[in-house]
Formats: sequence, C-alpha cells, structure tokens
Amino acid sequence: MTIAIYPGSFDPITNGHLDIIIRATKLFDRLIIGVYETPEKSLLFTTEERAELVRQSVTTLPNVEVRVFSGLTVDFAKELKAQTIVRGLRMSADFEREFDLAMMNKKLSPDIELVCLMSDLKYQFLSSSLLKEAARLGGNVNDLVPKHVAIALTRKVNRKM
Ligand code: ADP
Repeated sequence: MTIAIYPGSFDPITNGHLDIIIRATKLFDRLIIGVYETPEKSLLFTTEERAELVRQSVTTLPNVEVRVFSGLTVDFAKELKAQTIVRGLRMSADFEREFDLAMMNKKLSPDIELVCLMSDLKYQFLSSSLLKEAARLGGNVNDLVPKHVAIALTRKVNRKM
C-alpha cells in the first residue's frame, strides 16, 4: 500500500492546495494531510481551525485523512509508515526552499522520497498569505478557496480589524 503525507501550514487551505491533494490521491492509496502545529510564520487561524477547514474540504475524498503534527516532517512520515512526502511547486518562487527542505529531509531520512507536483496554471500565483492580504483589504476571494473557507476568512478578518 502506498502512503504519502502532504504537510503544510494551510492557513487557510486554498484551491491551489486542494488541486495538489486531488491529484496526489490518484498517485497513492492513502494520503495524509499533515497540518503543522507551529510553523515559523504568523498565523491567522488556530491549529484546530486550520485542520477543520482542511477536513471540510476533503470530505468527498475517501483515501484522505487529516492530522495535526509537530516536530520533524520525516518523523511524522515514519510514524504513519508513509514512503513519500508530497509538496506543491509554484513557478520559481517555491523551488529553492523546497530544494533545501528536500536535501535536509533526505539527510535525516534517506528512505523517504519527495514528490513535487507542479501547481496548476490557474493557481500559480495563489498563496495563503496573499489570499489573507486580499481578504483583509476587502477583496473578493470566493473563487480561490472552497466556500466554507471564504466564509471563515471573511469572519476572521472582520473580527481582527
Ligand atoms: P508551508 O508553510 O509548508 O509552505 P503552505 O500551506 O504554505 O505551507 O504550503 C503547503 C504546500 O502547498 C507547499 O508545498 C506549497 O508550496 C504548496 N502550495 C501552496 N500554495 C499552492 C498553490 N497555489 N499551488 C500549488 N501548491 C501550493
């Protein structure tokens, strides 16, 4: 059985993440989405909120599960007996960081492989941070995220202002 993890901050999940998830489900028997508990960035949503927004986005995908994790990604993969880490790549922006992360993970755990899926053309410029920025400024982000995420985002940014 092929098992892969897709780790990330998902603050919040976007249609770009979802596209990677749907494509990855066709490559692996089981896909576990790992929501980092404490990424090194400032977050808008709490860990549970981020995980719940991901959960609600994948209810129709039978071979997908969502878990919260902290610590090393390779340890999370090993714990779940996953052979592969999935990541998404947008144009040039992600390459250097993903390459560095991949080298470090390979050093820490040579048996775990990385599979990078190229972002769909329509999501190349979509990031959770830009999305939050646009939402804060009152922009309409409805076609960039699932409906329940758009609602949560609007609620959250209005409360924070
Ligand atoms: P991280 O803090 O690990 O970068 P993110 O939630 O920002 O967490 O991203 C998780 C993964 O999804 C990363 O591999 C990132 O490159 C990828 N990703 C983010 N946005 C997109 C997108 N629009 N299209 C494809 N992949 C994406």
